[in-house]
Amino acid sequence: MRVKERAQKLAAGVVGPERREEIERVALRFAVALTDEMAALIDPSDPADPIAAQFLPSAREFDLAPEERQDPLGEERFSPCPGLVHRHRDRVLLKPILLCPVYCRFCFRREVVGKKGAMLSAGDLERAFAYIRDHREIWEVIVTGGDPFLLSPRRIGQIVETLDGLAHLEVIRFHTRVPVADPARVDARLLRALRAQKALFVVIHVNHPRELTEGANEAAKRFLRAGIPLLSQSVLLRGVNDDPVVLEALLRRLVAMRIKPYYLHHADLAPGTAHFRTGIEKGRRLVRALRGDLSGLCQPTYVLDIPGGYGKVPIGPCAIEREGKDWVVEDACGERHPYPADRGGDEE
Ligand SMILES: *Cc1c(COP(=O)(O)O)cnc(C)c1O
Repeated sequence: MRVKERAQKLAAGVVGPERREEIERVALRFAVALTDEMAALIDPSDPADPIAAQFLPSAREFDLAPEERQDPLGEERFSPCPGLVHRHRDRVLLKPILLCPVYCRFCFRREVVGKKGAMLSAGDLERAFAYIRDHREIWEVIVTGGDPFLLSPRRIGQIVETLDGLAHLEVIRFHTRVPVADPARVDARLLRALRAQKALFVVIHVNHPRELTEGANEAAKRFLRAGIPLLSQSVLLRGVNDDPVVLEALLRRLVAMRIKPYYLHHADLAPGTAHFRTGIEKGRRLVRALRGDLSGLCQPTYVLDIPGGYGKVPIGPCAIEREGKDWVVEDACGERHPYPADRGGDEE
């Protein structure tokens, strides 16, 4: 489908004609896509709809901030061969496909997804497997994209089977938006493709409680019945989920669906995404507010990916600091309490 047709299809029924031209213009610069499942969630009468904000292009994407980067996480620098990123000793990212069912407008890989050459060639996939085979320190392979669940079950099955056969590897992890964006893809064939001897985890990207539809719930149940544990990751986004009520609803619903919240990401410095970033101060305030009121099961780790490829670091509010020889700890209400230094270990 040509870009213009794709943009028109995307806009049909979810925005008025006055925004069509804007959407077409952005679609020429960045990939766009929307599934029926997500389109159905959009309230066309709400200009601030949190689902529309995530998937419908906006002219604000042309506003580039000086701190933004083509490759915010510096993945290129740590790529030993196409489709592979080896930043941390014990784990690699494998990106077999750079297509997605819904191109989030804040995607940190927006400069590389949805373009020509989005499928890793058979030769490059072989080279990636050879690299993993040769590096016995690799304990875990994180299959991501794009969205790896856009591959056919046959190809997913080949990847899982190959990885499952590598003796030094212990964990296979998939990162995906499919269970939310297109839950019907989570069918018996996909589940069969994911059968492995090794531990296999699925991490679902979801940002707003409304994305957790009955369809997503059914998809989650199918993974769980197949013995696949589920985790979630969310991006903190201005106007979407930078609100304690929305975050609480999202995190509680996830746990009720037996999905353990894993990461809350601070939005990355991807081109044209400044309107999504909340500021770290606000992020920490939100995380602190959640700490006191929500079960520990609902608490994700708030992380920032340091630009340039220096990895993820937790940036949640720091509850403890040194005061003289001893410590002071702050509780969830902001009240401070003394904690004694350990005579054996704390003194330098
Ligand atoms: C996020 C990321 C990982 C996975 O990190 P975890 O903390 O294990 O989830 C691995 N490699 C790279 C390059 C990453 O950006």
